Amino acid sequence: MHDRSTPFEATIKWTRKETRDTFTCAIRISNRDIQRGYRFVPGQFNMLYVPGIGEAPISMSSSPLDRDIMHTVRIAGDVTTALSLLGAGEVIGIRGPFGRGWPIEEAEDLDLLIVAGGLGIAPLRSVARHFMKTHSPKKKTAHPRRMLLYGAKTPKDIVFRDEFPRFRDIFDVFLSVDRADPEEYWRGETGLVTQLFDRLSLDPVRTIVFMCGPEIMMQTSVRELILREVPEEKIFVSMERNMNCGMGICGHCFFGPKFVCKDGPVFRFSEISGLMGIKEL
Ligand SMILES: Cc1cc2nc3c(=O)[nH]c(=O)nc-3n(C[C@H](O)[C@H](O)[C@H](O)COP(=O)(O)OP(=O)(O)OC[C@H]3O[C@@H](n4cnc5c(N)ncnc54)[C@H](O)[C@@H]3O)c2cc1C
Repeated sequence: MHDRSTPFEATIKWTRKETRDTFTCAIRISNRDIQRGYRFVPGQFNMLYVPGIGEAPISMSSSPLDRDIMHTVRIAGDVTTALSLLGAGEVIGIRGPFGRGWPIEEAEDLDLLIVAGGLGIAPLRSVARHFMKTHSPKKKTAHPRRMLLYGAKTPKDIVFRDEFPRFRDIFDVFLSVDRADPEEYWRGETGLVTQLFDRLSLDPVRTIVFMCGPEIMMQTSVRELILREVPEEKIFVSMERNMNCGMGICGHCFFGPKFVCKDGPVFRFSEISGLMGIKEL
């Protein structure tokens, strides 16, 4: 196993703009031995290090079966701005993979419901691409069912917009935006992502949920699911906190008694229900 406390080099293979403030970059680890030993599961993250600037935790948005490792990044501060200015052939540092990812194996035989808000789709695109690479296109009546709900602020903020037609091979896809200007010709739903739950007929006993997005969205979505009798043990949420070491040492990312970097970022909701404030909603 490689040393995850020191960054190793990776070369940027390509970058692509997703929305006005978000881009995807594909990287390849330079050292062949590290490349061979490097394995991640969807939902884990890397610390991306831009020389001379600093590092930031960013989830993998590619499938582990993709040739390159992809990260989809919103420009927020120094590191992400510097990263957005780099192009193919330039070298960055990475440490990882870190954290606990989505329980893909547990989802295999169950109905999988993905709920994403905004850039929360990034670690869930990793799941979607993984299923696209490992499953044949869906059959109309077959169990297990796979469903994907995604909400963005406006049509222009939909990340991976061009990929949704392909996601439909495996998933029933439902999109909504908070608001759309008439000139955007939006023909999908308008409103919060939670209203898309009314479009689903869930079988709570055989459903597993993977969710990532703004915390308020996750709180209201979890509440909707509990009202529909989906057990808390079958709901998984990905949390974000400021973090530094990524290895459960520095304590920057404490979430109650847990470290987001080591015990998460993906948590079974039943483990953290007391920390997420659902009961007060
Ligand atoms: C496990 C994990 C996975 C992540 N995955 C992604 C991803 O796939 N794509 C992506 O774009 N971003 C992701 N992030 C968020 C990203 O790490 C932060 O936006 C990061 O701080 C950006 O670094 P920066 O130097 O550009 O901005 P900074 O200067 O660090 O931050 C800019 C602003 O964002 C605030 N901030 C920083 N980190 C967080 C945080 N975790 N939560 C809320 N506010 C924060 C800061 O306080 C500051 O106001 C993830 C974070 C975590 C913890």
